This record gives sequence, structure tokens and C-alpha cells, in this order.
Amino acid sequence: MKRRGMSETVELSCPFCGQMGTVLVDEGGGEHQTYVEDCGTCCRPRVVHIESLHDSSRGPRVWLERDDGV
Ligand SMILES: [Zn+2]
Repeated sequence: MKRRGMSETVELSCPFCGQMGTVLVDEGGGEHQTYVEDCGTCCRPRVVHIESLHDSSRGPRVWLERDDGV
């Protein structure tokens, strides 16, 4: 994980196709963020979850989920 000011990037695998991709994490955007981003490989929408921890020596928690359009 590389730190560049208030943002960093993490490598995560796509929940649809499994392809590794880079997700930009903006830690200034709030404690808990979710947004939808299309996979660059399979173009399906995935939900990016970001949880910034106050006790954050380890950085934010980031994970991906499928957006099944519920
Ligand atoms: Zn994908």
C-alpha cells in the first residue's frame, strides 16, 4: 500500500471476474464510503466499500461487493 497525501491505492480482485485491479481510496471522503465503479475488465458494476478507522496505523479497510441491482 502506497501513501500519497490523503489518498492511496489498493489492489483488489473483482468480485465478478477475479481480475486484480487498482482502487483509489480517498481517506478524506468520510469514515464509511460506498460507491459503484465498473470493472475495467468485465465492465460489471461493483460496489466499493471504504471504512476509515480512527485508529488507523493500518489504514482504511477496503472491499468490493457485487452490485446485483437489488
Ligand atoms: Zn471484473
